[in-house]
Amino acid sequence: MSETPVRVRFAPSPTGKLHVGGARTAIYNWAFARANHGTFILRIDDTDPERSTEENTQIILRAMRWLGLDWDEGPEVGGNYGPYKQTERAQMYRDAAQRLWDEGKAYPCFCTPEQLAADRAEAQARKDPFQGYQRRCRDLDPEEARHRIAAGEPYVLRIKVPDDRGDVVVRDAVHGDVTFAARELDDFVIQRTDGTPTYNFATVVDDAAMGITHVIRGDDHLSNTPRQVIVYEALGAPVPTFAHISMILGADGKKLSKRHGATNVEEYRDAGYLSDAFVNYLALLGWSLDGETTIIPRDVLASQFSLEHVSKNPATFDPKKLDWIQAEYMRSMSDAEFADEVMLPELHEAGLVEGGVEYDEAWIDALAAIVKPRTKFPADVVTVAAPVFATAETLVYDEKSVEKGLAKEGMGAVLDAAREALAGLEAWDAAAIDAALEPLPEALDLKKRLVFQAVRVAVCGNMVSPPLGETMALVGREDCLARIDRARAMAL
Ligand code: GLU
Repeated sequence: MSETPVRVRFAPSPTGKLHVGGARTAIYNWAFARANHGTFILRIDDTDPERSTEENTQIILRAMRWLGLDWDEGPEVGGNYGPYKQTERAQMYRDAAQRLWDEGKAYPCFCTPEQLAADRAEAQARKDPFQGYQRRCRDLDPEEARHRIAAGEPYVLRIKVPDDRGDVVVRDAVHGDVTFAARELDDFVIQRTDGTPTYNFATVVDDAAMGITHVIRGDDHLSNTPRQVIVYEALGAPVPTFAHISMILGADGKKLSKRHGATNVEEYRDAGYLSDAFVNYLALLGWSLDGETTIIPRDVLASQFSLEHVSKNPATFDPKKLDWIQAEYMRSMSDAEFADEVMLPELHEAGLVEGGVEYDEAWIDALAAIVKPRTKFPADVVTVAAPVFATAETLVYDEKSVEKGLAKEGMGAVLDAAREALAGLEAWDAAAIDAALEPLPEALDLKKRLVFQAVRVAVCGNMVSPPLGETMALVGREDCLARIDRARAMAL
């Protein structure tokens, strides 16, 4: 581990909701900070005033909280390096730009867009491989520049890429050393005519001021990095280690987008994915623990994450694998965890339980035990548990199930026999109920499947409900008998 304490940041632009690609970047930054006992900073890059909104910022913060990516510094939590929104740091960018100007490392440029376009056309015409800014204002007499500014002429500030800079080698933890020829970097703009900073400038001013040691972000920013290195050097700040992570692709090999389905974190939250499962899945898009382990709990991720195991190859978003991981997380919950975290909230929302106090813990646990194996997504809870919460009056009978399971010759006799066997039971629990129904097929000379199907449809209204004995135990004897009576009319 390096001696300087690790400081990383996730810097979303609130121009939209939190995309799965952004979420993965956030997860890697968070996990890297945690694994190195470092600091995870959240910074809102809201310098694009047209497209940034406070609403998006709030959506991003909510998504981060849902993902469980707690930040040590940033909005709502503060910190010693704030403010953590770029719009609140405008003065810092102006000061930094002014300093570079004073030191001769930046200069004003008065070229109009028309001038720049004409220069580019000329460079093209003479087949100059370099078609960027032709450094027209680089050697302008400072006195003349001052006059033009005083006269109100608009100008931008450009950085002066040193003549002798040579190649810029970006040290990247994922891609290795990536070399860019300095002559391909024009003297790029750091401050626009309206005084606002450009992305490459603001980002570096902030990363330097915030003491960022590792910049982990999408590799769409790799091409910006040599410019950012030039800014670090001009500011006299140490250059951090970079880690540019691959794009996330859809199954067709194209960049993940709406066409592939849900792309925003909140859509996954609303669809009922468990935060832990979702984080586990996203972490695996480009990183692996050991090349084979798929289920990686959050605490393992937070202690074992390393940049060495991040792949530079694009990752493919596979909804089936996400669903498989979701099912694994559901399955590995204890009944009590499932009851508290998934089942009761769903039942509560559906108005089926009020405060949860009307049922004792054993009843809730017994319900969780039969509902959990049938729940892939939280929303399944209500469907699976509906027969338990219904009454003989409110139970909804599924038409197809009635047709297949009840409205058949001989099923009336099945219900009559079942009623009698159940009415006489001493104890009302799953084992006793199963034992009471067990002899019926033989006694009635009917297939076991037909007998149990008829009772199931009578009591649960459908053919896919949880195990019969357990369900009937939860429903209670009186209501079970009343349901059988009601169903009797439908049986032949
Ligand atoms: N706001 C930038 C983005 O969302 C941050 C890029 C960076 O991490 O430097 O792409």
